Formats: sequence, structure tokens, C-alpha cells
Amino acid sequence: MRGHTGWRPAWRDVAPQSAYDIIIVGGGGHGLATAYYLAKTYQQAKIAVLEKGWIGGGNVGRNTTIIRSNYLLPGNIPFYEMSLKLWERLEQDINYNAMISQRGVVNLYHSDAQRDAYVRRGNAILMHGADAELLDEAGVRRLLPFLDFDGARFPIKGALLQRRGGTVRHDAVAWGYARAADRLGVDIIQNCEVSGFRIENGKVTGLDTTRGHIAAAKVGLACAGRTSQVAAAAGLRLPIESHALQAFVSEAIKPFIDTVVTFGAGHFYISQSDKGGLVFGGDIEGYNSYAARGNLPVIEDVCECGMALIPSLGRLRIVRHWGGIMDMTMDGSPIIDRTAIDGLYLNGGWCYGGFKATPASGLCFAHLIATGEPHPVATAYRLNRFETGHLIDEKGMGPHPQLH
Ligand SMILES: Cc1cc2nc3c(=O)[nH]c(=O)nc-3n(C[C@H](O)[C@H](O)[C@H](O)COP(=O)(O)OP(=O)(O)OC[C@H]3O[C@@H](n4cnc5c(N)ncnc54)[C@H](O)[C@@H]3O)c2cc1C
Repeated sequence: MRGHTGWRPAWRDVAPQSAYDIIIVGGGGHGLATAYYLAKTYQQAKIAVLEKGWIGGGNVGRNTTIIRSNYLLPGNIPFYEMSLKLWERLEQDINYNAMISQRGVVNLYHSDAQRDAYVRRGNAILMHGADAELLDEAGVRRLLPFLDFDGARFPIKGALLQRRGGTVRHDAVAWGYARAADRLGVDIIQNCEVSGFRIENGKVTGLDTTRGHIAAAKVGLACAGRTSQVAAAAGLRLPIESHALQAFVSEAIKPFIDTVVTFGAGHFYISQSDKGGLVFGGDIEGYNSYAARGNLPVIEDVCECGMALIPSLGRLRIVRHWGGIMDMTMDGSPIIDRTAIDGLYLNGGWCYGGFKATPASGLCFAHLIATGEPHPVATAYRLNRFETGHLIDEKGMGPHPQLH
């Protein structure tokens, strides 16, 4: 009504103070959520989030927005189910429209063996109190009649459906947490890159940044694809590799797909945004890189998988595609833990599934930083599991980050 005039900034643009009680490095979804829960749930004060670029410029603004809790392993399901419950009340909690849409996530199966694996996963999900439903072929036909069932190279036999899964407007998550944290007194400092750590007698005392030295009693790393690089500046060598992951958006069309669908015979997933574009993606690039862009072989693979599943996609044009840097661990599961350096905490290794984890990751990391103890649902995400062999290998791929 005001012709786009008179907007006020959603959060304060503050200059860094000389010292904070807690500094979170990385203003992505996880860093901002951590700061918010530190201030709100754990009543901590003097908190800053340092972001080298701008809020929403990292993976939190680059992902394909899927949320779900349909995991198999006991280390994972309670954590992701807590995250889904936090998503369900997030908009009221932070007073921000994050366009949370529980439109359902459909994982297709194409063989009897794959059905058995999905039955097992579905039972594990139900036993942990989350929701799962097995659909036969007729059930999938009713829901998604445009898939290639007849004469398909990979016949569709059914699906595992999680109705409470869906999508969330990713940028809104970053902006909503940033605004809510700011209102609780958290300083959000953009264009402030952390370049070094001050460590005295095994304890972190501050950070060197592009905006000067800042003292801190506690530091939490939430740098996603840059985790191993930033941690290396503190002398830590992490079991993390960085790989690019691409996403694609088609031209906008009328409502066509009203769930999230994943292909079971290749790596491909698709949903439709509220603006009408089909949003889809597939595998990571499979080689180590810090470049937030991908290459043609993955584009070809993603489009082939898409065509095998939904032949009518071939009539559409892709209007945008981009990449983000994934922090791939050796077992495909994340790390929320203390480090060997006193006062330095680590949140990373989210691979390409960390968006759905944002609220739970923030809450659990805040719990760890405030209390010094892991949150009960995140006790499996310890750093030393790579030494002891207590891996959380959800996909059963072994120590091959590019396959997780
Ligand atoms: C194409 C794509 C599709 C995806 N799809 C999904 C999906 O559908 N569902 C899902 O659950 N997950 C998905 N993911 C994964 C998810 O986006 C990430 O796991 C998650 O966003 C990572 O956490 P974050 O939001 O904190 O990361 P980021 O937003 O990347 O935040 C990390 C921040 O740290 C900052 N930083 C780095 N180094 C420094 C430094 N030295 N000093 C200060 N700041 C620094 C970065 O600039 C960045 O802003 C996808 C990712 C991509 C790229």
C-alpha cells in the first residue's frame, strides 16, 4: 500500500563489540537457530553471530527445502522427529511466516527387495512415534497419476509415504530466526569473516576476523560446507570432505505435483514451489571442491532420472540452477559436539540433508554450549565416533562421503 517505501530492517546492523560470552561462526540456518535458542531457551546473554557474507547466502538459501523425519537408525530418528515437531510450531514460536507445508514426502520403491527395506524403515519410524505409511502401486497411482508406471524401465511398485513431511520456505527460515534472535539481543554481524582463533592454554579466548579481533568465552562453529576449512584454522582436522550439490528450478506451471517425490531407482527428487516452478535435484558432484557450482555430468544425470520418472518433464525448460557446498562426513551423519579445545564447539557434517535439521540442530547445539552436555536426542552425534567405530551409517555405504 506504501509502494514499497517505509520498510524497516528486520534486524539491527550492528558493529562488533570487543567481547562476547558466546560467538557463533556462520550465519546460516544452524548458526542463527543456535543463537536464537541460546537466548530464548537457555537465557544466555552477550551472543553474536558472525557471518562472512550475508544472511541467507549459504546453503540455507540454496537448498530444495525438504523436511522429513523418515530415518531408519536409532541415532537419527528421535533427532529428526524432534526437528519436525519444532517445524510444526516454528511460525508461532518466531512469529514469522515460513510457509511450512506438510504436503507429504513419497519415497518410491521399484522392486520387492526395496519394498522390504522400506517396510523395515517404516516400522522403525512408527516404533519411534513418527508417521509412515506404505502405499502399493494403486495407492501411488491415485496420488501421482503422471508418473511413468506402464512400460517404465524402472516399474513403480509402491512407496513409503510420510504425510507430515513436506517443504518450508528456506529464506524465511534464515530471516525469521535472524529477526527473532535480534529481538532477544543477539548481535548479527554480516560481512565479518573469521580468519583465525586465539587459543591460550588449550582454551579458546577469541577470534581474528576481517573486522578485527573479538574476544569470546565460548565459540560455536556452524559453517556448513566450510566447516573443515574454518576448523583447520583452529588446528583441528575433521572427518569431513566438501562437495558441491546442485538444485534446479523449471519454468512455472499450473499446480502439478502436490507432494515431494523421490525416485527409488536413481537419485532424483522433485516438488513444486508455490510460485509454480518445479524444484528438483539429485547427486552431489562426487569430487572435493569449495566452488558453489556444479558440472554438466550431474545435470545430465538429474535430467535423465527425472525423465525416467516423469516423461512429461521433457516439455519443460529449466530456468535456474545453482550449487552449494556440502560438508560430507564419512558416515553421512552430522556432528554436534565439544572439540579438544576448551570452549570451542562444533556443529557440522550435515551433508546434503541439514535443512530439515535446522531447528533441532540449533536447539541441541545451544543446549551443548549452554550446559556443556549433549542434548538427549543428539548423544550419537559425537566426534569421537570416527575413532571408536560407532558410526551412524544411515545409507549403509561405508566410509565413502560421496555416496552418502
Ligand atoms: C542444492 C542443495 C539442496 C539441498 N536440499 C536440501 C533439502 O531438500 N533438505 C535438507 O534437509 N537439506 C538440504 N540441503 C542441505 C542444507 O541446505 C544444508 O545442510 C544446511 O543448510 C547447512 O546448514 P546452514 O543452513 O547453517 O548452512 P549455511 O547457510 O551454508 O551457513 C553456513 C554459513 O557459514 C558462513 N561461513 C563460512 N565460513 C565462515 C567464516 N570463516 N567466517 C564467518 N562465516 C563463515 C557461510 O558464509 C554460511 O553463510 C541442500 C543443500 C543444497 C546446496
